[in-house]
Amino acid sequence: MPIVNDQSTQCPECLYKFALHEIDTGNRREFLFCGRCGYDWKLITIRDRKTGEFKRKNDGSYIYRSYKKPAFGAFKIQKQGHALFASITKPIDYSIIQEFKEMLSSRDIILAKSYLTGYNNVSKQIEFVFGNVNSMS
Ligand SMILES: [Zn+2]
Repeated sequence: MPIVNDQSTQCPECLYKFALHEIDTGNRREFLFCGRCGYDWKLITIRDRKTGEFKRKNDGSYIYRSYKKPAFGAFKIQKQGHALFASITKPIDYSIIQEFKEMLSSRDIILAKSYLTGYNNVSKQIEFVFGNVNSMS
C-alpha cells in the first residue's frame, strides 16, 4: 500500500514547520501529528463493516470522518534505534511530569534526544520544555 510521509508540513495549531504528515492512499487515511504542540489529527474513509469496501454517498463520493485532539503538549522518548512520540491529552499537571520523569529513568533512554513540551492552546504558546528541544525535528 503506498504511504506518503512528509515531515515538512506546517502544524495548523502552533505553526511548527516540521509536523509529521502521512497519507495512506491504499486505506484512504491521512494523519497529521505535531511533535511540538501535540496537535493530533486524522481523517479516515469509512468502510462498510460487512463488505470491507469504502462507503460512498449516493453521488459516489467517499464518506470521511475526521478526529482532532486538542493540543496540550507532546513528548518524545528516544531509545536506541527508535523513538516514541505522543501527544499530551489534557493540561499538563504534576502527575504527567512525574510520569515523564519515570519514563526517562529507564536505562536505554537517550536523554539528549528526549523531551516533554507543555502547550497552551488558548495563547498558542509553548509554556515550558523539559529536555532537549534541539532534537525536536
Ligand atoms: Zn504544533
